[in-house]
Amino acid sequence: MPADVGAIQVKDLNTTHFQFQQAADHLGLSEELRALLLTPYRELTVQIPVKLDDGRLVVFNGYRIQHNGARGPYKGGLRYHPEVDHDEVLSLASLMTWKTALVGIPMGGAKGGVSCNPRNMSVSEIQRLTRAFVSKIHLVIGPYRDIPAPDVNTNPQIMAWIMDEYGKLHGFNPGVVTGKPVSLGGSLGRNEATGRGVALVTAAYGKRKGPKVQDARVVIQGFGNVGSHAAVILEEMGAKIVAVGDIEANIFNPNGFDAKKLAAYALQNRSLKGFPDGEEIDPATLLELECEYLIPAALGGVITKFNADKIRAKVIVEAANSPTTTNADLVLEDRGITVIPDILANAGGVTVSYFEWAQNIQQYKWDLNRVNTELENILIAAFDKVLDCAEKEKSTLRVAAYLLAIQEVSEALTLRGVL
Ligand code: NAD
Repeated sequence: MPADVGAIQVKDLNTTHFQFQQAADHLGLSEELRALLLTPYRELTVQIPVKLDDGRLVVFNGYRIQHNGARGPYKGGLRYHPEVDHDEVLSLASLMTWKTALVGIPMGGAKGGVSCNPRNMSVSEIQRLTRAFVSKIHLVIGPYRDIPAPDVNTNPQIMAWIMDEYGKLHGFNPGVVTGKPVSLGGSLGRNEATGRGVALVTAAYGKRKGPKVQDARVVIQGFGNVGSHAAVILEEMGAKIVAVGDIEANIFNPNGFDAKKLAAYALQNRSLKGFPDGEEIDPATLLELECEYLIPAALGGVITKFNADKIRAKVIVEAANSPTTTNADLVLEDRGITVIPDILANAGGVTVSYFEWAQNIQQYKWDLNRVNTELENILIAAFDKVLDCAEKEKSTLRVAAYLLAIQEVSEALTLRGVL
């Protein structure tokens, strides 16, 4: 069942707004446009009553927030976590708008979530919760309206239940949700797509700006879906995974781990705890190790003003959503540490989700080679655009990524006649 992710922190709405405003200032965006782009199109909060296995009735709060659909149907994950709340979902929904626009896939931005603790729930309770949630939001989702996907603590099985429940109400419609099991219309390559994207973008940065990933020391915080696949693929590219951490353990090996063994161990034990081949370190030390690439792949808000001056990585690749606070960003910029922003670094997942949706509506299956080739084409094109823009504007990569994304969405709104 869902991975045990512990206390994933709330994505700070102020951080998202600050990042948007920074780029909006750079573009000289009008107040009207800012208001339009900061306000979500639709917010739905629902009550989800669920009978637990012991007969008690518990009421959960569920959210689906559609931020901007100017460029296509809304798209974004579904998170099950005790800290899910309105502000977190809204900020993650807006990130999806910029992410889809940046990589040029014809979709908007949305996010959903249920405030619950899946660690304390049985599989059948999670199934009942999911079906009840779908019954409350089914009128605002759909293959041409809004397409959920997995996020923290949700997985292909949960996507299958969503497809099934939606189908009962609207007929067979696999394109209503992505990240499904492959046997139910899921795409080959979706499971590893976010980690693959992180690796591709890291390698592309190394190729253009250095240090190259071959022989680079890589530190990864978070070893779930994203972190473990990024580790395996970066190792295949020649990088050395010198330290990894999850909610239970942080381990260091200056000679480099065998990433495949690590991933197999973490999958089997649902944790890195007890992995034999490394020295145990504390979580703060992990982030402050000397390395070429530091990849936060777990939490929001882990690089803050309190540790930004201690980071010894040359480049930070934001595999997680919003791992760097605004204050930390400013410190890192001052110190010449590059940050590859989340809306670029982790866009591989939504890109292959888009491929899955395209396969579903065409009723045609792509082979893995096609998925991976098209993923690479899209991400490298987006990466090159961001780097070129940052060099032209003398800005950070984050500001450049937002500039490009905001321009795309603004153009769509203008062409539709909204402005
Ligand atoms: P996951 O649930 O598979 O794994 C999360 C990992 O983080 C686990 O190893 C967990 O132990 C670790 N973790 C949790 N709390 C921690 C803590 N306090 N300290 C250290 N490690 C901790 O989740 P995932 O799908 O890999 O997502 C990770 C991040 O990537 C999230 O921020 C998510 O929003 C983002 N992301 C995921 C996808 C995707 O396709 N899965 C796409 C884009 C962005």
